[in-house]
Amino acid sequence: MAQTLQDSPNALINKTVLSRYMSLPVSDDIVQATYIWIDGTGQGIRCKDRTLTFRPKSPEELPIWNYDGSSTYQAEGSNSDTYLHPVAIYKDPFRRGSNILVMCDTYKFDGTPTESNKRKSCYEAAKNCSEDEPWFGIEQEYTLLDVDGHPLGWPKNGFPGEQGPYYCGVGATKVYARDLVEAHYRACLYAGIKIAGTNAEVMPAQWEYQVGPCLSISVADDLWVSRYLLHRIAEDFGIVVTLDPKPISGDWNGAGAHTNFSTKVMREDGGIRHIESAIEKLRKVHEKHIKAYDPHEGKDNERRLTGKHETSTIHTFSAGVAHRGASIRIPRGVYDDGKGYLEDRRPSSNCDPYSVVDVILRTVCLNEV
Ligand code: ADP
Ligand code: MN
Ligand code: MN
Ligand code: MN
Repeated sequence: MAQTLQDSPNALINKTVLSRYMSLPVSDDIVQATYIWIDGTGQGIRCKDRTLTFRPKSPEELPIWNYDGSSTYQAEGSNSDTYLHPVAIYKDPFRRGSNILVMCDTYKFDGTPTESNKRKSCYEAAKNCSEDEPWFGIEQEYTLLDVDGHPLGWPKNGFPGEQGPYYCGVGATKVYARDLVEAHYRACLYAGIKIAGTNAEVMPAQWEYQVGPCLSISVADDLWVSRYLLHRIAEDFGIVVTLDPKPISGDWNGAGAHTNFSTKVMREDGGIRHIESAIEKLRKVHEKHIKAYDPHEGKDNERRLTGKHETSTIHTFSAGVAHRGASIRIPRGVYDDGKGYLEDRRPSSNCDPYSVVDVILRTVCLNEV
């Protein structure tokens, strides 16, 4: 840990100095807004701040803004203005008060969505199946690294003891940086993100939190802002968060974004019939879903979905009750109740949840093939 602090200039800064300035009073009708968006990699998060002189109640009241898309892999330098359209507002856990975080999607100069704007298509799908009342809950797994890229708390030359004691572990040799996990959990709750819980994962320095169940596209807005908070808080601690789906090759678990999904009829008595019919639809378009489940159309997930370490192989579709080696798992409790939801275990930890929600809605609710 000492090494982490020395290597990270952010962690070395004395945060009590900041609090002197953050407690300075500012006029009531001033709001600081952090606009947040996804860059051209489809994974990177960017943000910038502006002052508002009113308190917005909905994203429609917020100004459209722009940025230099040539610096985010989203435009040419000669025609670089790229537009930010506010889509969701959250409370700002850093500045508190009436200050806000603003999730945005991005548009080119001609009004068409940028290549990494997967929200627009997702929004249209969600609109077309709103009567199905689709709910999503996403389990976000992630891995903590030192600023030198080494897994946090791992010996600098070698490996920790093999997997076994770490999942939901307690104690100084089992889990690392619980402070960061705690800070993030509370910040999500404060912001208004529907975070459902958190746990330490199978590989040391790996953790998970869940967002949901949320109605339709809102799970993806919440998940992106929760990722923003995670990276931003980790910055304070001098720790790096990676969403790489297989940060350490070999006998170490990868990281996923298991996506739990239900519609109104699945949640009603006898809903298992609708869960099974959704699974049959998903079976027919396995490859299409694999392409949508990581930012490199399956290439990232190839390293993770090996058929080992609680995964199914990327090449075949499978489903089973309580089966953690299947593409789709029906939780035991759901099977026993005859209603509830299914768990799609294929999405990668670095997936764009807009793409995941989009393709599931199109396959299961809109019957697109
Ligand atoms: P696992 O046993 O796979 O680790 P978790 O408890 O981590 O499961 O996550 C399951 C998630 O499923 C919950 O956090 C919740 O958001 C979500 N969920 C629960 N009920 C439903 C439902 N009816 N529809 C969609 N998602 C649901
Ligand atoms: Mn889980
Ligand atoms: Mn997990
Ligand atoms: Mn799961």
